[in-house]
Amino acid sequence: MSSTAESTLDERAAKLRDALGSRVVLASDPDYDVVRTPWNVAIDQRPFAVVTPESAEEVVAVVRAATAAGLRVAPQSTGHGAAALADTDLANAVLVRLDALRGVTVHPEAEAAIVLGGSHWNDVLAAAAPHGLTALHGSAGDVSVAGYSLNGGVSFYSRTHGLAVNAVRSVQIVTADGSLVRASAHQNPDLFWAVRGGSGAFGIVVSLEIELLPYADVFAGMLLWDATHTAAVSRTWAEWTASVPESVTSSLRVLHLPPLPELPPFLSGRSVVVVDGAALESDERADELLRPLRDLGPEIDTFTRIPSAALVHMHMDPPQPTPAATRHRVLDALPAEAVAAFVAASTDMTLFVAELRHIGGAIARPLPGGGAVSAVAGEYIAHGIAVVPVPEAAVPAHGAVAAFVDAFEPWAGEALALTFLDGGMDRAAGFAAALDRLRALKEHWDPRNVFAAGNPVP
Ligand SMILES: Cc1cc2nc3c(=O)[nH]c(=O)nc-3n(C[C@H](O)[C@H](O)[C@H](O)COP(=O)(O)OP(=O)(O)OC[C@H]3O[C@@H](n4cnc5c(N)ncnc54)[C@H](O)[C@@H]3O)c2cc1C
Repeated sequence: MSSTAESTLDERAAKLRDALGSRVVLASDPDYDVVRTPWNVAIDQRPFAVVTPESAEEVVAVVRAATAAGLRVAPQSTGHGAAALADTDLANAVLVRLDALRGVTVHPEAEAAIVLGGSHWNDVLAAAAPHGLTALHGSAGDVSVAGYSLNGGVSFYSRTHGLAVNAVRSVQIVTADGSLVRASAHQNPDLFWAVRGGSGAFGIVVSLEIELLPYADVFAGMLLWDATHTAAVSRTWAEWTASVPESVTSSLRVLHLPPLPELPPFLSGRSVVVVDGAALESDERADELLRPLRDLGPEIDTFTRIPSAALVHMHMDPPQPTPAATRHRVLDALPAEAVAAFVAASTDMTLFVAELRHIGGAIARPLPGGGAVSAVAGEYIAHGIAVVPVPEAAVPAHGAVAAFVDAFEPWAGEALALTFLDGGMDRAAGFAAALDRLRALKEHWDPRNVFAAGNPVP
């Protein structure tokens, strides 16, 4: 590196340190490797600096100091979506980790909650459950509310209640000029439209108001068979999903589980096929709906009425940071040929998870008055996940997840689900018809392209 470049680097670092003191962690600092590491530990993100603000005022200070130093800003809450950011060069960006900005206030009478920008779904569920309320969370409780909701958010309640983004009532957001502004249907409505889908491309959300759901309990669970039953289970599930009401949201997965001591013995080292989901129905009606699947004689059947806060454990997502490669396609239909393609593709042992998620229903219906993204047009999501335990495993892992979703090419539509997007994909396609207006609003709110988002607005 030339001495000019060195001094520029030093000047930028000095500007950040002047404004933010020891909050700034640079590549030369001992903590750098700890604070730069996202939940998806396969992603080797190397930002210019990392800052972990503890208040909205500190987020304002970070954005002002970074832009004054000529640096970009990348908001990140947990790093579950870090793979989407992986093909963005962060060498001139400050990674703003929102881990320290967590807290939830529930307003039971309004069935709403105010959620700080780095809060996890587990925080919301713990605060909402005592009031008999829950939320449109996804399958993992340690995903952030902001990153999930503002990128769409597909929940096991979503075929009835739509994407989680439609439950966002307002946001407090720090914009590219370092202002803290409120965006809602009545204040800065164009920014409110843009951030509901455009998320981190428009600023750092320091808090958001979300609608809650009035469910103290829910009928939910999972059915599990040995993977030798995959063909029969998949055929039945596909026919079943074509007939169930919108009150039922479910997923079909083949899991190839490694022989790990932390797994229960009945799962360790096995390949299994699992159907899990939730039914917003009475116990009698839910039992009646489940009959075709139960008739296949599952080895394990946990479907019953559970406290709604327990739904977040049903999908058995990894409880700790995990190195993973993923890919998805949205399918318009799942005819018998597509089911056969799933059965064949799911046998690849490089995959950790081969999944079909049933969407459609309210997920596919755009919300009048909704934001840039308010629906995903399609009936199923095909989602492949492979673990990347060592860097050398990355190539086969990416190959396996790509081959898995390519198997569904004849049934794949144009739509993409923003929350499931990874780097290396045409992520702008996820914005669909909203792209032109999003671009115009990006030009207005962030003309210097300060914000580096997982799903950038190009
Ligand atoms: C184990 C696992 C389970 C999952 N389950 C589901 C599921 O059931 N349904 C579903 O739809 N998705 C699911 N996802 C995908 C997940 O919702 C996305 O990866 C989501 O973007 C993660 O948000 P995050 O903030 O936790 O991650 P991050 O990587 O921290 O954030 C992702 C992006 O969101 C933006 N962002 C995050 N926080 C803020 C903020 N405060 N202000 C502005 N922008 C922000 C940024 O652009 C950032 O790049 C799952 C992912 C994993 C790994």
